[in-house]
Amino acid sequence: MRAMTVIPGQPDSAELTELPDPQAAPGELLVEPLYLGVCGTDREIIEGGHGEPPPGHERLVLGHELLGRVKEGRDGFEGGQLVAGIVRRPDPVPCVCCGRGEWDMCHNGQYTERGIKALDGYGAELATIEADFAVPIPDELGTLGVLTEPTSILAKAWEQIERISSRACSAHERVLVTGAGPIGLLAAMMGAQRGLEVHVLDRATEGAKPDRVHGLGAHYHSGEVTEMAKEIEPDIVVECTGVAELVAGAMQHTAPGAVVCLTGVAASRTLSVDVGALNNELVLENDVVFGSVNANRRHFEQAVGSLREADPDWLGRLITRTVPLERWPEAIEKGDDDIKVVVEFSQR
Ligand code: BGC
Repeated sequence: MRAMTVIPGQPDSAELTELPDPQAAPGELLVEPLYLGVCGTDREIIEGGHGEPPPGHERLVLGHELLGRVKEGRDGFEGGQLVAGIVRRPDPVPCVCCGRGEWDMCHNGQYTERGIKALDGYGAELATIEADFAVPIPDELGTLGVLTEPTSILAKAWEQIERISSRACSAHERVLVTGAGPIGLLAAMMGAQRGLEVHVLDRATEGAKPDRVHGLGAHYHSGEVTEMAKEIEPDIVVECTGVAELVAGAMQHTAPGAVVCLTGVAASRTLSVDVGALNNELVLENDVVFGSVNANRRHFEQAVGSLREADPDWLGRLITRTVPLERWPEAIEKGDDDIKVVVEFSQR
């Protein structure tokens, strides 16, 4: 079978590699990938800044945003069932969080991740998934099921936002999302599904991003973050870029009692920030700033619910480019108007 592989730590090592077909061990499903989304994490791995191969291997099979079809029914799954694959596996110790299925909150960092950290990903013509880590996708979602993994990241973020917000005396109403990439747009979609007033900030002044934001009935802005935050005084911020200026700006000028959720990762960057003033804003207004990463099974299930509730036409317009497996490295190139790019597998 052919697989999308890379040598972690070595830029420009991405290639289509011929590998032996995998065999499903007891408790595992053999799955034929149909579509695989690519994201910033894949780009970082390809650029050599992230990722770890399985022990004893040089190459890592990339890919963690899977929509696949079960090849042969077993372990409660019928043949032909569409599935998404959970990304993280609990650490072997396990820590208290991994021990209770909350591997997204792993304490000791010894978790592994398909296609990212010490486990091959789903980017191959055949893949195995432990049945316990496969998430059934209803047929009605079809291709859109490829958005399950990125949506699970926001399901986790929104769950945490709601838990933290429950301490407030009044309901939170206005949300600012920074970044109108796939993560930002899915964050905005879930804000709109919660009946909130949603504002999205991005650099783009025209094209797909403003169009998709307006398609949610949300407000689109392309100005400076501090000015924007001052104007709308958000009581929830979902930061989806990891860009230092936006991260710093997003914490300031929020409404009292605001909850700021950081979801982006970025290269180290020094920025001059008045920490005293920031401290005072957070303390004097009871604000919370927290980080959120990854997703457990509950979040994947919530993601499926959210995708079913969304307008399928709008979701379909998030997928702006489809690249065949043969040319998969092109999927990583960033087009100006790209939102979600997916690799398509032809059936063998
Ligand atoms: C994935 C997460 C993962 C994170 C860090 C993201 O792109 O969606 O599942 O935990 O990268 O590796």
